[in-house]
Amino acid sequence: MKLAVFSSRKWVVDSFNQLNDKYKFDITYFEARLYNKTIPLTKGFDAVCVFVNDTVDEEIITGLKENGVKQIALRCAGFNNVDIEAAQKHGISVVRVPAYSPYAVAEHTLGLILSLNRKFHKAYTRVRDGNFALDGLLGFDLHGKTVGVIGTGKIGEIFINLVKGFGCKVLAYDKFPNEKLKAAGIEYVDLQEIYKHSDVISLHCPLTFETFHMINEYAIASMKTGVMIINTSRGPLIDTDAVIAGLKKGKVGYLGLDVYEEEEELFFEDHSETVIQDDKFVRLQTFPNVLITAHQAFFTREAILNIAETTFENINMFFKDGESPNTVLPKKTSKA
Ligand code: NAD
Repeated sequence: MKLAVFSSRKWVVDSFNQLNDKYKFDITYFEARLYNKTIPLTKGFDAVCVFVNDTVDEEIITGLKENGVKQIALRCAGFNNVDIEAAQKHGISVVRVPAYSPYAVAEHTLGLILSLNRKFHKAYTRVRDGNFALDGLLGFDLHGKTVGVIGTGKIGEIFINLVKGFGCKVLAYDKFPNEKLKAAGIEYVDLQEIYKHSDVISLHCPLTFETFHMINEYAIASMKTGVMIINTSRGPLIDTDAVIAGLKKGKVGYLGLDVYEEEEELFFEDHSETVIQDDKFVRLQTFPNVLITAHQAFFTREAILNIAETTFENINMFFKDGESPNTVLPKKTSKA
């Protein structure tokens, strides 16, 4: 089984090699992303393994088919970057890792909230500089605040339990409410109610046609002045122009991002010696009340091991038995 792993980094190579003693796949690691210029690299491989910022649209899938690739193994949960219909049309299996550590993402989300509020990142550099003044570091009690959670699946549920522990009131929205949370007394409301009443809004739904730019100028206009918006899900859930306008007006009081609309060109690379060309991203960084991490919410020891294990098992089952339990099907034929 010849496997091409794209967007490889040291942590990917280390975790995969550690497991490969058991599976004995013939693995080639490419640092490059999978996109139209790197399709030729896939010739002769049985499967390709990709991550969140690899583009797997119809053009790429056609190229994969021509090169003999039979499976696309996503080493992440979200599959918005893969054209599932095109893969099915070309007879290529798509598998994913539905859950590797929802705790990692939920805990990082809480970290962004606490850091934005209590300004740990600023306090750290101040104290190291011998500046012990408190001006500018004023926060608020999270206890008693209303937290709006959009998407109450695996990550949303854990996040809700974390903020409940802080004594927050939770308002939830999901297209398919979580029965466990409902039974536990979590209040489900419509999006407008979330926007109107929440002090903190956290996004945990997938990126779909429906959720693309859900946080737009109209959504922001109906939020509380000074609202904190947190996105650890997928960048395009937020219309960056609209959130910049909201920050400039003071309507958005805090913004915490682990994902960004145009992150493919930036994240997972060291750009410290280059001039960043993405003006919107640079503008976001100028706000004192914006905190950005570069898609690291998943990045814990436990999650990485789980990603490697599930990915290898997905590939192994497909090439041994012809199917994997973590196969992603087009919406119409999906069992989900
Ligand atoms: P999940 O499938 O368990 O939960 C997603 C929830 O969103 C479901 O309950 C679903 O019903 C709901 N949903 C679907 N469409 C919706 C809509 N239009 N409006 C509101 N809710 C809707 O997924 P999860 O494991 O909780 O992950 C959530 C998201 O987190 C993923 O889609 C992925 O994009 C993101 N994620 C980010 C990282 C990271 O490192 N930043 C890591 C893993 C996952």
